[in-house]
Amino acid sequence: MTENRRETEKIYETDGLTFVFDAEVLSCDARKDGLFDVVLDRTAFFPGGGGQDPDTGFIDGARVSGMRQNGGEIIHVADRAFGKGSKVTGKVDAEKRLWRMENHTGEHIFSGIVHRLFGFDNVGFHLGDEYVTIDTSGPLTLADVEKAEALTNEVIRRNEKIEILFPEKDELAKMTYRSKKELEGQVRIVRIGDTDMCACCAPHLPSTGMAGYFTVLAFMPYKGGTRLYALSGSGAVKETRSRLNALKTASETLSVKPCDVPAAIDRVLAENAAREQERVALLTDLLELKIAAATASTTATGNESGNGYRAVFCEQADMRTLNRVGEKHKEGALFFLAVAGPAGKRKYVMKSEKIDLKKAAPAINEILGGRGGGSAGEISGSASVESEEQLFEAAERIAERFRQ
Ligand SMILES: [Zn+2]
Repeated sequence: MTENRRETEKIYETDGLTFVFDAEVLSCDARKDGLFDVVLDRTAFFPGGGGQDPDTGFIDGARVSGMRQNGGEIIHVADRAFGKGSKVTGKVDAEKRLWRMENHTGEHIFSGIVHRLFGFDNVGFHLGDEYVTIDTSGPLTLADVEKAEALTNEVIRRNEKIEILFPEKDELAKMTYRSKKELEGQVRIVRIGDTDMCACCAPHLPSTGMAGYFTVLAFMPYKGGTRLYALSGSGAVKETRSRLNALKTASETLSVKPCDVPAAIDRVLAENAAREQERVALLTDLLELKIAAATASTTATGNESGNGYRAVFCEQADMRTLNRVGEKHKEGALFFLAVAGPAGKRKYVMKSEKIDLKKAAPAINEILGGRGGGSAGEISGSASVESEEQLFEAAERIAERFRQ
């Protein structure tokens, strides 16, 4: 450490609720990006760590957009210069910091409880701006998650004091605490009653009650353990409100009580599946009738010789049903050709056991005025066929060209 470098007094280490503070500028250096590295004698700006992002805010109206730590010195990246020795007022973005502290504190309580109940560690913690993720070292069931969540909220309700400890080395050796990595130098312990002891550098709430409410939004298996998405405090309340609104809309739409929404959705899905079956049956009947009528009226059937074709034009047909019907009708015919879909978006499917369709595709595409391809037995693509009449004309030209 050089002569005029000295350790910044870190207000956030012992007091997470001071957001406005007075300080003296110790140094101010211009950066290459046009901003300035400002060091104060004391700061409430947390430089980031322990899964929590650096604070933002203002020093005397200058925006603080970044933070870093150099040994015991905290550096604020500000958008204007300050004279050495000038007195300034720092203002941390309190809303953002509170949101993070609520969620970080909720995470400590929950992780401590999961560790105590199941012996699992929190092996990955991310405190995002939307939600928090917690990765546990072992798998949790829904019942496990519900139990740990309920106990977390009990600790919140008891409004227990959250203590920050700086134990001596021998004292620390006797302590049992959660820690993600080997720590050097002075270790800072965040103690939440009998619930949790964790080595962590980030600012926390002074008592559990301020976390308000903790909720797990979702969880899933992850790397042999469980990844949980959670929220505490104001974020949890806001998210819960938005989910309740969504449930309210669903319950009104389905005309059932909120708790009966899942059963009502199952019922609607079952009804839809039955209707879909009915639709496919009716469509199949329609296609069969159309094919029978066309086969009976066309002069070019040649059905006995197997040189006849089957063609069908049906705007409402879906490709899946056409494929199924086509599989049946290609047998014993020169080919099966169907055109479906609304005007401007027509599609064709063609099947044959007698013509190598892969080879014939360019000629067929030209006749159908579209583009497509596939295998020797089946091709499909777009078509510009406007009517049933046009389809029959095209089918006749194809038959003439490829009839053996
Ligand atoms: Zn922490």
